[in-house]
Parts: sequence; structure tokens; C-alpha cells
Amino acid sequence: MAGPLPPGLHPDTLAVRAAVERSPFGENSEALYLTSGYVQPDAESSARRFAGEEDGYTYGRTSNPTVTSLEQRLAAMEGTEAAMATASGMAAVMLMCFSLLRAGDHVIYSQSMFGSTMKLIGSEFARFGVESTAVPQTDVDAWRAAVRPSTKLLFAETPTNPLTEVCDIAALADIAHKAGALLCVDNCFATPVLQRPVTLGADIVMHSGTKFLDGQGRVMAGALCAPEAMVREKFLPVQKNAGMVLSPFNAWVVLKGLETLKIRLQAQSAATLALAQWLEQHPAVARVHYPGLPSHPQHTLAMRQMSGVGGAVLSFDVKADSPQQARARAFHVLDELQVMSLCTNLGDTKTLLAHPASTSHGKLTEAQRQAAGIGQGLIRMAVGLEHADDIKADLLRGLDTLNTIS
Ligand SMILES: *Cc1c(COP(=O)(O)O)cnc(C)c1O
Repeated sequence: MAGPLPPGLHPDTLAVRAAVERSPFGENSEALYLTSGYVQPDAESSARRFAGEEDGYTYGRTSNPTVTSLEQRLAAMEGTEAAMATASGMAAVMLMCFSLLRAGDHVIYSQSMFGSTMKLIGSEFARFGVESTAVPQTDVDAWRAAVRPSTKLLFAETPTNPLTEVCDIAALADIAHKAGALLCVDNCFATPVLQRPVTLGADIVMHSGTKFLDGQGRVMAGALCAPEAMVREKFLPVQKNAGMVLSPFNAWVVLKGLETLKIRLQAQSAATLALAQWLEQHPAVARVHYPGLPSHPQHTLAMRQMSGVGGAVLSFDVKADSPQQARARAFHVLDELQVMSLCTNLGDTKTLLAHPASTSHGKLTEAQRQAAGIGQGLIRMAVGLEHADDIKADLLRGLDTLNTIS
């Protein structure tokens, strides 16, 4: 077999097959090209490549074949024409905003988005004259009401961290397009296995490859999946100069991760649903937040938008009479763990637990946290691949001994 793949292959096939063509050595697995420069065949070709008139590798800040393999595979899985990989998820947000916005432009984003995303747009880009409005994640009318003549971008993340709030991608795409703006969706939690935002009208899909795409908590990575013209004409020129490129080694690790993304996410999501149902019954638990549960406020929308699967992240509130007691109880549950990890990452094969109120949302005031629904008793779980009985036993160590603390 040689040459390009035939058209019409399914996403499952593309997840293991889409990549750059094999080198003359005929390697079956994608090669790892650790090189910063590329030898040019002749001076005329070199000139054409630098002028962008001919495809070909020139320098590592512009492109690398292993990184290109990852971009092609992720684009194929998301159903976009192209993709551009970046050094981290935040580098992808940075690259998108830097490429598409200028002073005076306006961005609308959800107030439940990833903390660094909100800071980057709401504070850092504000210093350069980019205006923004944060709106409630699930309130479509609030998104519509926030539109201004200068609105260029709507930026949503669904489901969100840590409360797994779900927004209506198709409705937001409609609002964006009527305003002459673009919709970008951070697809970190659902991944293309469960949710393909472009099929619902989104223009750009942003990823933190650090999470489920790598899937084993080893490397930082990010990507923007978008139309070919946008990648080539908007993202590439900025990336070339700004240099937030993904290392080929990290690209190779994530490329490998994409091959098992579907089976990992299916297994981890099934385990998360079972765990969510079990936690809902536990007397020490006040509430479980998980899109796969009928008690989730956007359950119907989530099931429609996410292939009927809730994903592999849930959060729950321990019962308590006061914020102080809630914090002490949540800390007790976390400190009793012997198997699972106290770790703020997610999307790993190892189950990771975190206390959002003192970590990812630690800088908010208590009032802001209350408004966001992030109580002191809230624990987030990114469920991995351990046996369900071991996960439950590890939680019960703390949950069943809450009466031993003051
Ligand atoms: C982690 C994360 C990011 C940022 O990605 P990094 O790779 O850590 O830079 C953005 N969005 C979401 C939803 C995330 O979970």
C-alpha cells in the first residue's frame, strides 16, 4: 500500500490511519522526526518554499512532518479541512485570538470557561483593546443579547469544568453567524469521539491535547481545527512568527493517543456514569453533576449533542452545614485516598480528583465562587481505567468516615 488514503473512510479508521505518507523506509507506525531544520533540494525550490508557493519543510517553527501527521489526524477526526497544532491548549487560544482579533473587536464567552481562557481574553487581550463579555453558559438569550456590531467571536466550552454545564452549540452557531462572527468550541471534555462541533455549525474547534487526546497524562499539547484557508492564511503566518509550536515528540505521543481515544473514552465514560449513579445514592453526597444523569439540567441537550454519552468527568458536593465544614469534609475525602491521585489534570488513564474551590477556582472571592456554583464541598473526578470496585473503595475510605472529623 502506498500513497493517499481513499476518500470516505470512517472516523474510527482515520483515527489510526490518517497521517503523512510513509517515508521511503516504509515504517508502519508514524515516524518521529526530531529535526529543527530541513535540507533544501536546490536554491530555486528553497525560494519557492519560503515564498509559500511550494509545499515542503523549511524550519521547525513553520512545520514538522510528525506535527503535520497529528494535525491531519485530528482534523480528520473533527471533520475539519485542516488543523494547526500548538504547544499547549492555552497556546491554541492565544494563537486563535492573536490571528483573528484586533483592537476594538468584541468577544463573547461563557463565564464558566476554563480559568486561563477567561483571564487571557478578559484581562490580557483587554490590554490590547479587545473587548469581551462573559455570559452565563446555558442562557442562550444572554449570548444573543451580548452581541454588538463589533462582535467577531463567540467562544464556548461544553461540557465545562467542573460543573459539566452544557451549552447548545447549534444555537450559538446561529447567533454567531447572524452577527457575522465565528463560533469556536473548546472540545476538550467531549473530544471528537462524542461531539463534533463543526457538524453543529461551529467554525473552529479548539483542543487541549494535554487531556484526553494524549490520554495518559504525559505531554502538553494543543490544536485549532478549522477550514484550510483559515489555517493557512490566518493561523500559519502568526504561528511562524510567534513560535508557539508543538514539539515533534509531544506530537508523536498525542498521535499515538488518538489511536485509542475512542475505546478509552467509551470505557471511561461508562465507568463515570456508573460511578455518578452510585454517588447519587450515597448518604454523604448532596449532589452529583454529570451530563449522563437525568438529574443534570441539560441532560436532554447533552445526550443529543454528545452521542448519548456523558463523558469521563463528574463532580459532586459532599453534604455539609457550612462552607467551613464542607471544605473540611472534601479535604478528608481527598486525604483518605490511597489509590487515586489528588491532581488537577484530567483525561488520564489514572483517576484524578481535585478540589476546585482551593485550586482552579481558588483566586475567586467566596461570593464569586458561590455565584459560579463552586462550593467548598465540591470534588471533581476525572475517571480513569482502574477497576470500579477499587475506585469506590478508595472514595468510601473518606465518605464513610466523615463523622470522625469535626
Ligand atoms: C486544560 C484545559 C485547557 C488548557 O489546556 P493546556 O493544555 O493546559 O494549556 C483549555 N480548556 C480546557 C477545557 C481544559 O481542560
